[in-house]
Parts: sequence; structure tokens; C-alpha cells
Amino acid sequence: MAVQPSMSSQPPPPRTSTSKPSITSEPITLSNWYQHINWISTTLVIIVPIYGLFAIQYTPIHRLTLAWSLIYYFLTGFGITGGYHRLWSHRCYSARLPLRIFLAFVGAGAVQGSIRFWSSKHRAHHRWTDTHKDPYNALRGFFFSHLGWMIFKQDSRMIGRTDISDLDEDPVVVWQHKHFLETMLMAAWIFPMCVAGLLWGDWWGGLVYAGIMRACFVQQATFCVNSLAHYIGDQVFDDRRTPRDHWITALVTLGEGYHNFHHEFPSDYRNAISWHQYDPTKWFIYLLSKTTLASNLKRFRHNEIEKGRLQQQQKAVDIARSKLDWGTPLADLPVISWEEFQAEVEGGAALTSIAGVIHDVSAFVEEHPGGRALIKSALGKDATAVFNGGVYMHSNAAHNLLSTMRIGVLRGGQEVESWKLEASAKSKADGLMGDLRQRMTVTKDEAGAAEAA
Ligand SMILES: [Zn+2]
Ligand SMILES: [Zn+2]
Repeated sequence: MAVQPSMSSQPPPPRTSTSKPSITSEPITLSNWYQHINWISTTLVIIVPIYGLFAIQYTPIHRLTLAWSLIYYFLTGFGITGGYHRLWSHRCYSARLPLRIFLAFVGAGAVQGSIRFWSSKHRAHHRWTDTHKDPYNALRGFFFSHLGWMIFKQDSRMIGRTDISDLDEDPVVVWQHKHFLETMLMAAWIFPMCVAGLLWGDWWGGLVYAGIMRACFVQQATFCVNSLAHYIGDQVFDDRRTPRDHWITALVTLGEGYHNFHHEFPSDYRNAISWHQYDPTKWFIYLLSKTTLASNLKRFRHNEIEKGRLQQQQKAVDIARSKLDWGTPLADLPVISWEEFQAEVEGGAALTSIAGVIHDVSAFVEEHPGGRALIKSALGKDATAVFNGGVYMHSNAAHNLLSTMRIGVLRGGQEVESWKLEASAKSKADGLMGDLRQRMTVTKDEAGAAEAA
């Protein structure tokens, strides 16, 4: 999303011992800072908009010019979101020639470089997100991903290379790249000025509002997808990288704000998948598909999308679970023989065995809601059946509480000893989460409880 056409997809010229080292390898100093600046990009994204801000103070605003600026804002914005991004960078749908010509024209009016340049950078961004090969790597800071990467020269050898051979087969893309300067001047400034000038006589206002300021807003909105959409919002489908979903970003970017979804499912023509989420680009592509102009709209299967969502929800639940005391994991409990268990109880310990797990209930004897006598009658015994419905069908909360009292696994006690060995091996392989979800309340034997009831 910069403004200088570049041949970034082609291999760099071979370095020879006589070639001058790139300025990007030198630190910025007072004497060389101007050499670090990419002046073409800086002119188009900083200097011209600043001039526009200066000019509006002396340019009366015409009602029709304001309306036209707004309309042209949406058209050129769609040139980027529906054209440069979803059509050319990701091939989310197919467009017929008249639509491609229209999108190439209004897209050039957004002053963000040619389709070929923009898409090759964008494909690198997706392929190497959050790495030094990502041209607008969000980990280098908000300012860098928003504007910095265009203002300061980048070492093109560092940026990841992408395959854009499909774009080179599209004559519209090739023509627009070759004639980008003329196309941009026409689409960004001359055309909006002529509309306002010829139709209601506001030539200067047309240039300032519908041309310069409108392009500035489209630029800033698009740049927010690289910065804001990697900073604010939720990571609904994957949290290993920076992209996020947020309605505010969607609002300023014609629906590109569901960026976590987009990075997971980039060739889906939608960025928002719920009916209540704002994605006018998706709506417009859908409308175009009702004509013959757009076709072959791609969507990821609902099943695949929901898997990602569920895994993220599971992760959040696992984190919340890990903050609670579920008792010593089975894998960490010692194996105790029946004889050792009996000896401990004879020595005065308040131990009971339930489902092959030995529990120390000494601190709970006085608090047992069913009374002291009942719990004492279970000491030194296998109380599985009694606990699971024989005398009383204990609640889920009781099973949870019981788990916090476990101190050992009974040798030969039901299947728990083998579970423990299995769990011990598995927890080493899986880490904490796998073990946490497994048999948190091993005493709860649903089948046995049903039988007892
Ligand atoms: Zn991104
Ligand atoms: Zn994308």
C-alpha cells in the first residue's frame, strides 16, 4: 500500500563488489536523513495531503462537491478493497473486463501505487506476517506499519518475494502498471475536479475536496488495515499472530476490519461473516455477482471456520481452568498399595478410596454436609459405590471438591493406575492443557452412577 510502482517481484540485481551499499544499511543521521526518505511516496501520502489541509482553509465548500467527494471516496475506496485487495491480491472472485477496468481506474485514484505493486506487497504481508519479510510488519510498531514503511526507504532485498505471475497475465493490471502515473493523475485529481467543474462550476473545490482530501482519507483508511487492524480487537480464529477483528477498523475501511478472519481465510470474498457486521465491500461484490460482472465468489466452508473459532474459545476456557485448583494431577500422585492405605488409616489418617483414587478427607470430616458419621464410615474403604449413588448421588461440586483432596492412586485400583501412567506420558507430550482437560474429576463415573441410581 504505497505509492511508488516497484518491480519488487523480480529478483534483485546481483551485488558486485563495486556496487554501492544501500542507504538502508546506514543509520539515520542529521547529515543523511533526506537520503533515507522515499520522496515520491512521502510527497503523495504526506506533502500533498498537508497542502490539502492548508488549501481547505481558503476553499469554500460547495454542497454538491461535498456529496461528490463522499461518493468518490466510496468508489475509490472500493477500488482498493474490492479491487486491489479482494480481486487482485487474493482472487476471491472473478471479474469481467469492464469491471476490472473500472476497478483499476478508481483504485489508481486512491493514490496507493499500481495494482501490481500493491498486490505483490500485500501477498508478502500475508505470507510472512509479523516477520522481517513482511513489508508492513506490525511488530515494528504502529507508525511503521501505518506510514513508516512508505516514508523511509526499505531494503527491497529484505522483503519476501511473491508469485504474481497471474497478475502479469491480466492485461488490465499490466496496462495500469505501465501507465500508472497518468492513470493516477487522471483518477485521483483531474477526473473528480472535472466532474465538479463541468457540472456545477466548482473546479477548485473539486480538486481540493473530491481530489486531494478525499484521496488522503482513502489512504489513511487503507493504512489502518495494516496498523489498527493488527493492534485493536479480538483474535477470534487464531492468536499466534497480530491480526485482529474490530468493528471500528471495519467502519473506517469499508469492512476490512475483520482482519483476524481475513488472515485465516484470505481467499474468502467476505471479511465479515455475521449479518450484523459491517462489510460493505462484501455486499457490493455480492450485488455485482447478481449482474454478470462478478462471478465465482469464494467462501470457506462453515465447518472449517467454526473449527478455528471453537479452538480459540477452548484456549480461553483452558486458561481460565488453569487458574483454578483442580487437585494434584493424577500423573503426579504416588501409587499406594492397599496395605499402605490400610496402615495409614490405622495410624489415624482420614483416607478413603473412591474410583481407585485415595483422598485425604481429614479437613472435611466436620464440614461434610451429610454428617460426620457417614464420611467416617467410608474411611479405609473403597467408597466408590457409596459416593456415586449408593448412599447419596454426589453433585458435580462434590466431585470437584473431592478432587482437591486426592493424595494417591491405589495400586490395582480400578483403571486409575493405568490412567496415571498413560496421563504421565501424555502430559509430557501435551503440556498442561491436555492433562487439565483429561479426567479432572476422575471420581465421576457417569455409567456407574446411572446404574446405582
Ligand atoms: Zn494484515
Ligand atoms: Zn489481505
